[in-house]
Amino acid sequence: MKYQNLVNGEWVHSAKEITVYSPINNEEIGTIPSMSKEEVDIAMETGKKALESWRNLSAVERARYLYKAADILERDKEIIGEILTKEVAKGYKSAVGEVVRTADLIRYSAEEGLRTVGEIVEGGSFEAASNRKVAMVRREPVGLVLAIAPFNYPVNLSASKIAPALIGGNVVLFKPPTQGAISGLMLAKAFKEAGIPAGVLNTVTGKGSEIGDYLIEHKEVDFINFTGSTKTGKRIGELAGMKPILLELGGKDGAIVAEDANLEKAAKDIVSGAFSYSGQRCTAIKRVLVVEEVADELARLIKENVSKLTVGNPFDNADITPLIDLKAADFIEGLMEDALAKGAIPLNPVKMEENLLWPVVFDNVTLDMQIAWEEPFGPVLPIIRVKDLDEAVKICNESEYGLQSSVFTKDYQKAFDIASRLEVGTVHINNKTQRGPDNFPFLGIKGSGVGVQGIKYSIESMTKIKSIVFDY
Ligand code: NAD
Repeated sequence: MKYQNLVNGEWVHSAKEITVYSPINNEEIGTIPSMSKEEVDIAMETGKKALESWRNLSAVERARYLYKAADILERDKEIIGEILTKEVAKGYKSAVGEVVRTADLIRYSAEEGLRTVGEIVEGGSFEAASNRKVAMVRREPVGLVLAIAPFNYPVNLSASKIAPALIGGNVVLFKPPTQGAISGLMLAKAFKEAGIPAGVLNTVTGKGSEIGDYLIEHKEVDFINFTGSTKTGKRIGELAGMKPILLELGGKDGAIVAEDANLEKAAKDIVSGAFSYSGQRCTAIKRVLVVEEVADELARLIKENVSKLTVGNPFDNADITPLIDLKAADFIEGLMEDALAKGAIPLNPVKMEENLLWPVVFDNVTLDMQIAWEEPFGPVLPIIRVKDLDEAVKICNESEYGLQSSVFTKDYQKAFDIASRLEVGTVHINNKTQRGPDNFPFLGIKGSGVGVQGIKYSIESMTKIKSIVFDY
């Protein structure tokens, strides 16, 4: 099947195409257009033309399109779930769950948009200012938002940019990931069927290496909202110049386990946090820091939970499914070889067949191993044994990343103390690291990102303050 881009309300093809194959079995799923720079220009121009009338609609009028799109998306959850499963090898149930969660996110964005309010700031607080001076502080759209999404949640992470941008009065140019593009285009289809005016949401598919930089530097782009790897995010930061950006990047989320933790619960949460969607989540638990006195018991429990994970086909809802591509598997193989050579102890068999990796936990990981610091984005979990919680916090804070952390302890005083010392965007107490619910603030610091997402926060980020001052 040939999939097309949505430009100015029409489905359009390009002279060049990219074939999308399934990571499950290399089956050809379809083709997507490989857009040229000239075609990108057309999409940008139609977006800019649509901006004026879209931003002049009332929030309630814009919200109607979002509600309709959400209903259409939910109606098509099985169709989109199937494509999503094929495209990114995500368990079918989780794929359908992603579509339903996205419909909810779009509805909540519509509602939150209705509640967007400005404020009045009174003068008179400064000697020189009249007490009859006021500033009316309003929120205005930023303009054309370039939304770029990664492969792992091509429906949800795309909508988490598109819906808050649209309800805030912006137009969107949406670039889905190549692997995940068809699912992304189906999201756009829901908005088209909902009757969104031509040009308000345009899509661009193509190779990041060919049109990526061109998109970022494009003069018509007013705001860049990107989720993806730290490497690409840094490049975007360099090229964006003065354009405002929102970057959600990689992570190396640590789970800190104290001596007084409920180890059964910690092990269960850690395994689910580390291995769901085969570890291909920005917020996956990517290392465990456990105090020595309970390390043996925790390692035993983690191993036990991991050995229960099923491996295989996402259509059978296996826990562990093929990785997105061979390159990803090769990268992890390198990390495992380095760990093994330096003395890490695998608690489960190290096994791989092409891009399918069996889940494995490495114990006795030391800080000279790459796996202690790098983001594998796969079903591999290192355990680092520490002498006390201070050492655990220190190691966490030495990371180049700062996305999330988990703290497992029964002592809430201790938990809050650690939470306040961790250099990350979010700390979960006695729970796994995770992105949702979608209305919570979601952010990374250091190499994990710039700016804050989460529905209300995303609307704020993608609207700008206009202050209108007058004396009365
Ligand atoms: P990626 O950086 O390779 O690609 C992300 C997107 O950027 C894709 O759409 C890609 O086509 C596009 N792109 C590539 N080069 C570009 C360029 N020069 N200019 C503009 N766009 C370009 O990331 P990925 O492999 O798709 O996703 C995995 C990474 O994303 C992991 O590091 C993961 O941690 C991160 N991630 C972060 C979050 C978060 O919210 N913090 C969520 C999910 C994934």
